[in-house]
Amino acid sequence: MKAIVFPKVGEYRVDDIPEPEPQEGQVIVKVKTSGICGTDVHILRGEFPISFPVIPGHEFTGVISKVGRGVKALKEGKLVAIEPNLWCGRCEFCRRGLTNYCADFGAFGFTTQGAYAEYVAVPAKNIYLLPDDADLETFSLAEPLSCVLHGQSKLSSILGKKVVVLGAGPIGVLHALIGRMRGASRVLLYSRGVYRLELAQRLFGLEYIESFDGIIDSLGGKADIVIESTGSTTMALRALDIVKNCGEVLYFGAPPSEQTIPLIPFYIYRNEIKVIGSFSLVSKDFLSALSLLQEQNEFKKTITHRFRLDEFGKFLEIEKTRKFLKAIFIFD
Ligand SMILES: [Zn+2]
Ligand SMILES: [Zn+2]
Repeated sequence: MKAIVFPKVGEYRVDDIPEPEPQEGQVIVKVKTSGICGTDVHILRGEFPISFPVIPGHEFTGVISKVGRGVKALKEGKLVAIEPNLWCGRCEFCRRGLTNYCADFGAFGFTTQGAYAEYVAVPAKNIYLLPDDADLETFSLAEPLSCVLHGQSKLSSILGKKVVVLGAGPIGVLHALIGRMRGASRVLLYSRGVYRLELAQRLFGLEYIESFDGIIDSLGGKADIVIESTGSTTMALRALDIVKNCGEVLYFGAPPSEQTIPLIPFYIYRNEIKVIGSFSLVSKDFLSALSLLQEQNEFKKTITHRFRLDEFGKFLEIEKTRKFLKAIFIFD
C-alpha cells in the first residue's frame, strides 16, 4: 500500500509498504479521508518530540475492510471514525476518564502507524460507527473538533462572555465557532495574517481584528476568556495582557517544548487570572464532536483544500503561504 513516511527531520517520501493485518481485537480501516494537522508539519520540521521514522496522520475516517479475531460488533463495509489516542483502560488516569494521561499513552501517527496511508490497523475500542450515508469529509474533523471541545470543557461557562481567540487557523476558527454556538456575547478572532481572517469572515461571518493592540478598544474592555491557539510563546504571554481580572486564558496551541516566557507571577496573583492548559482529547469529547458533526455541517466549510496522498509536496507549498484553512487527503 501507499504511505507517506517521514524518515527523519525535514524529509518525506511516498513509499510502498506492506498492508497491515488485523491482530486480535483489531480491525483494518481502509482510509477514506485523512486530515493534515499542524502538528504533522511540526513533526516534519523537528519541532515536536517524537522518534523517526514515522507515518503521520491521526485525523481519519474510512471503511472497515477486515475484522480481526475476537471482534464481534464490527463488520466489513461499515463507515467509521477513529479516536486516535491509544490507552490501556486500566491505569489510574484511564480509570479517572483521563485517557490522554494514560501511563501507556500512544496515538496514531505518533507512536504507531498513522493514516497518511491507505490502510491502518485499529483496536476495536477506538472505532466509532457512522451512519451508512455519513459524509466522511465532515467526520474527518472529529479529532480537531474534539480537541477544541476538550479545551473549552476546561473553561467556566462561555455564555454572555467576551472571548478572544488568538490564531485563525482551523483550530482557532473551530474555537470561535464553538464559542459563538455556546452563547458568547462577542467572539473576536485575532491573527497577524489577514488572509485567514478574511476567509473566516467570509465563510462563517466571524468578527476579526488584525491589530493586537486594538483588541481592548474593540471589545470596550478586556476579554473574559482568551484562547491561545497559535502555539507561539510570545502570544501566550501577551494573552495575559488582554484578559480581565478573574478571567481565563486557555493555552491550547502547542508551543515549542523548551521555550520559556518572562511571566510575572505577581500579575497572575493580583488579578486572579486562571491559566488553563489543554492537551488532546478524551473519548467523551470524541463522541460529542461526532454528534455535533452529525447535527450540522457548517464545520465542513473549514476544509478548503483536498489532496491525493502523492500531492503532499503541493500541500507543503500552500502551507508556506498560509492561504488555506483545513487541508485533508482524500482516497478512492
Ligand atoms: Zn490534529
Ligand atoms: Zn491507561
